[in-house]
Amino acid sequence: MTVEQTLAELVSIDSVSALSNAEIISYLEARCEALGFTVKRFPHLDETGAEKINLVALQITSQAEAATVELALVGHTDTVPYDPAWSEALKLTESDGKLYGRGACDTKAFIAASLTAIESIDLKKLKQTLALVFTADEEIGCLGAKRLADARPFNARYAIVGEPTSLQPMRAGKGYCLAEITVRGREAHSAYPQLGASAIFRAARLINRIEEVAKDLKSHAHASFDPPFTTLNVGLIEGGTAKNIVAGECRFTLEWRTIPGQESDYVLNLVKREVDDLQKLDPDFVCRIHAARTDESFETRADSPLVHFLEESSNKPSGTVAFGTEAPSMIALGADAVVFGPGDIRVAHRTGEFVPIDELNRCVAILRRSIEHHCF
Ligand SMILES: [Zn+2]
Repeated sequence: MTVEQTLAELVSIDSVSALSNAEIISYLEARCEALGFTVKRFPHLDETGAEKINLVALQITSQAEAATVELALVGHTDTVPYDPAWSEALKLTESDGKLYGRGACDTKAFIAASLTAIESIDLKKLKQTLALVFTADEEIGCLGAKRLADARPFNARYAIVGEPTSLQPMRAGKGYCLAEITVRGREAHSAYPQLGASAIFRAARLINRIEEVAKDLKSHAHASFDPPFTTLNVGLIEGGTAKNIVAGECRFTLEWRTIPGQESDYVLNLVKREVDDLQKLDPDFVCRIHAARTDESFETRADSPLVHFLEESSNKPSGTVAFGTEAPSMIALGADAVVFGPGDIRVAHRTGEFVPIDELNRCVAILRRSIEHHCF
């Protein structure tokens, strides 16, 4: 089967994150079993009750320890939703050297390339264990990979995490964290503000201090990123009930993207310190911080053999990504992880996402060489 045929079959299976991924997992399981891989499902029900499955397929060699994976190829099975008006979203369509379809770029192209690579090599020559890892719910917060890392199905030395990077190896990425902050006040008629306490004025004082925190964060630099420091953003704010009522409550979101080497709760602790300080000045200052999300940053050493190998194979220097990936979960399993795959992240998540055919074919060749290099 050609890589294009495999990609067409993968794209034809609707696997948006809102649905169960059981169908695409069954397809991938059958393909791996036909090659003699030992497969294991890690199923769970998501918050809507839909069955979500992570699949681990191992090609275990007699010489190697089964629990130690030399190389894992990791691809997420889910896609973002598609516009119903995109009538060919599930039908891979070729035009001008490009293959179009939902997931054609993100990340079914990488999965198709992985399957094609393993089908093109003599697996009897493997001396080290090779793993294919297919995850659920990457697009809604890397939920599947995080669960899999918690289940600790194996330890890995190297992992290639499929994402559209135009075949540039990406060895580091910022973390992503989100907190929802609620500041309380006391309502009163606005003609008599002294009878109340404005939650909006209080929130404004806190936000002023958060802006100062953002300035201080610039002093911790990580040169591999643009911008080279942890950034933060207050993206949403709402509060109050009417123009003539002293506001009783004000809520805002605080989002921050951490550089590697900085704990994901570092910013949160700086903000809590400011809250404590405001409470000393105003004993009525009441503020609740709900940490809604903490996705770790990641960094694999520039001199990791996997980074070197992929730089050489792709003829591109390693870089960093600004979007969330499953790499931290693979690092949690012991791996040097590099994010790598065909297609451009800037066309992913759009109507008409595509993968260039030449990149898809080059990815097959690079993955084949990676397997031979690490596992033979
Ligand atoms: Zn993706």
